[in-house]
Amino acid sequence: MVLDVRELGRRAGAMTRLDTVVPAPENLASIGSQVPAGSDVHLELRLESVLEGVLVTGTATAAYESECSRCLDPVTGEVTVDLTELFVFPETDARGRVVPRETGDADDAEPEVQDDNIDLGPTVRDAVVLALPLAPVCRQTCLGLCPQCGFRLDDDPNHHHDQVDSRWAALASLLGSPHDEKEEG
Ligand SMILES: [Zn+2]
Ligand SMILES: [Zn+2]
Repeated sequence: MVLDVRELGRRAGAMTRLDTVVPAPENLASIGSQVPAGSDVHLELRLESVLEGVLVTGTATAAYESECSRCLDPVTGEVTVDLTELFVFPETDARGRVVPRETGDADDAEPEVQDDNIDLGPTVRDAVVLALPLAPVCRQTCLGLCPQCGFRLDDDPNHHHDQVDSRWAALASLLGSPHDEKEEG
């Protein structure tokens, strides 16, 4: 998701809009949900040249695949996330040479415009991963699966097991079931 921003120029205030589709990168996923690698990610962006660099705002829209957190059926959906990122121009010395950044603060440093390119990948990834649903459901009324046997409860809402409390079951097995006792008297 590298964009060439040379056209934009460095004149503060210059602005361009970009409406494009890029393939999703690998591992664009959260727990249980994923945007399949290579699937369409729709970017609608506004690139603005500001004093410090290039300000990118807009949205990314991607389709995800997941499974119902109750019945494990496949679930698909779409997320649209807002993007805001400032790509700063690299520092240059008096001769116009790029000053390498100190490595210590690389993690929280703003992303840079590098060779007139900006890499939107990390920005899009962070936003999309956060927006992916953690516990999607196939529909709000999904009854899920029987916790005892895995039966799909939507197929028969009356499905049930004769409840035997496990503690009583253990006791019963020690004493023998009452039904096994011969009645006396
Ligand atoms: Zn479900
Ligand atoms: Zn069951």
